[in-house]
Amino acid sequence: MQFSDLIKKLKAYEKKPDFPLIKRAYAFAEKAHEGQRRATGEAYIEHPLHVACILADLKLDDVTIAAALLHDVVEDTEFTQKDITNEFGKEIAQIVEGMTKIKTLKNLSREDYHAETIRKVILASVKDIRIILIKLADRLHNMRTISVFREEKRQRIASDALEVYAPIAHKLGIASIKWEMEDLAFEQLHPDIYVDINKKIQQSHKEREKEIAKIKRLLQEELQGTKISCDISGRPKHIYSIYRKMYKKNKSFEEIYDLSALRIITDTVRHCYELLGIIHNIWTPIPKEFDDYIATPKSNMYQSLHTVVIGPMNKPVEIQIRTEEMHEIAEQGIAAHWKYKGHGSDNEFDQKLKWMIEVNELQKDSEDAKEFLKMLHIDFFEDEIFTFTPKGKVIELPKGAGILDFAYGVHSDLGDKCIAAKVNGLFVPLRATLRNGDRVEIITAKNQHPSRDWLKIVKTSKAASKIKRYITLTQKVPVQSFKKEEEIKKELEAWIIDVDSMSKPEILLSKCCRPTPGDKIIGFSRSIGKVNIHRNDCSAVKRRVADRKKVTVRWVDSIGRTVEIKVDAENRTGLFAEILNTLIAQSTSIKHAHAKAMGDQFVECSFEMETAGLEHLQDLIKRLRRISGVRHVFIGNMSS
Ligand code: MN
Repeated sequence: MQFSDLIKKLKAYEKKPDFPLIKRAYAFAEKAHEGQRRATGEAYIEHPLHVACILADLKLDDVTIAAALLHDVVEDTEFTQKDITNEFGKEIAQIVEGMTKIKTLKNLSREDYHAETIRKVILASVKDIRIILIKLADRLHNMRTISVFREEKRQRIASDALEVYAPIAHKLGIASIKWEMEDLAFEQLHPDIYVDINKKIQQSHKEREKEIAKIKRLLQEELQGTKISCDISGRPKHIYSIYRKMYKKNKSFEEIYDLSALRIITDTVRHCYELLGIIHNIWTPIPKEFDDYIATPKSNMYQSLHTVVIGPMNKPVEIQIRTEEMHEIAEQGIAAHWKYKGHGSDNEFDQKLKWMIEVNELQKDSEDAKEFLKMLHIDFFEDEIFTFTPKGKVIELPKGAGILDFAYGVHSDLGDKCIAAKVNGLFVPLRATLRNGDRVEIITAKNQHPSRDWLKIVKTSKAASKIKRYITLTQKVPVQSFKKEEEIKKELEAWIIDVDSMSKPEILLSKCCRPTPGDKIIGFSRSIGKVNIHRNDCSAVKRRVADRKKVTVRWVDSIGRTVEIKVDAENRTGLFAEILNTLIAQSTSIKHAHAKAMGDQFVECSFEMETAGLEHLQDLIKRLRRISGVRHVFIGNMSS
């Protein structure tokens, strides 16, 4: 790669590129990195130069390109932030500073590390979105040159790409970076599956080309005599996305890849709809497979018409129809939007970045990184649904979102006071989930207020952060620490789940889906003797199923919503009442209570009661053990 290649790219799209600036930035970076080499053996300057070229492919402005050339100077050379400011001014210096700040502590667990990195990237980029764009280009170039690193480092960089940067690229709508990054990372992490899928794609290549050529010919015949001009092409499918679909839908390669995919690009929105009409007229559409993302764009700005028809070979064909501008936004997302609409005070542009501000709010409130990551996962990976207010305003939500998410999506006051809703005219409870197209009318009550339980129902980070804010503002959390807490949890978890083929494994109930006795569950053995339990329908399961060894797990027979608790205590006046009060105060409904003296010193009390699940149970046990005189607390046949 030569500097002249970058100049060529710039000339291709910028009317008046600021060449003196770009040249100065390049010269400065080249001098600063002089003598440094990359692991590949090339001079260091190759790296920032490639990063700048990736951004030039996205047609970004001079400032971004200059900052990209300088992005590693402060971190890796003797030059300082001040030098950059003096030489290039505040705007560029701030972007470089933002890049330098995205450094994460290394001694964190994998999940915490990913959460922490996303947090830092977002934090830095709220100031200037171009920081994220350079970071993505930086990581993409690292992925392209990954083969020179040793195994361990390759795995780390690849998993960062898959867990952190590709999702960010997706959220910003930069499909071109997302696809490439995902496929490169997947090749590192699962080389055998990658090779297998790739081979199968190559094998079916010719047949597919033939089919697409036939569809193209037929369509062009239909278009004769109309004034619609369009470009029809086969759509490449990406290896990682095929793999994910195979997993998600539990289907074979053939079943997933059997669909031919076509893309039609035309000049105007009107022609998009006309083309759709023509296509539906020639081939029978599959009704449920039609999506109009032109009328309701995805939150990452994506627009297109999607349809699936039974094509000329009597097989389903996926078709996307869009204008050129839509196509550019589909590939380059926020970067293209930047170019078309500019930035700064642009209201529409700000709207598109709203999620970033929301995530930024959330991270301020999250006590731990995992909690933050859980919410982030939902915001990042779940499909979207579109719901409507009674007045027809669109509220976009992740799949599986409910009434509260909707209410908070409209306004935080509406969320705080929400008690139920009418969905498409029918009353539904607070826990109800919403579907695409639902018309939702929120019902409120003056004396309603958010509770901690709501956090278990909501899916969006926005709702979660509002609820948390309310709770921290209004409630004092006791700052007492209980030594036994962690132990109780372990005991309980070991007791309630049977794991096939393992004796006494350490059971970890996942925080993302909070399995409760009775839920369908699935286990993954992460390392020897440790099993993570998720609910079957947990979105994390779908994503991670490949990384870990699946094990068969089940709730032990005796566990249910009704549980028997036994308390072994010193016999003193008022003890039984105190235990009962403790249980009732935790909103436990007690079906049966009984006390039996064991000699004249001790008493055994037993309670049959309904619990709201494991956490509730853990909490009860913790509280019972704090009552003076209590020696042991048992559950059913479990001892403590
Ligand atoms: Mn770099």
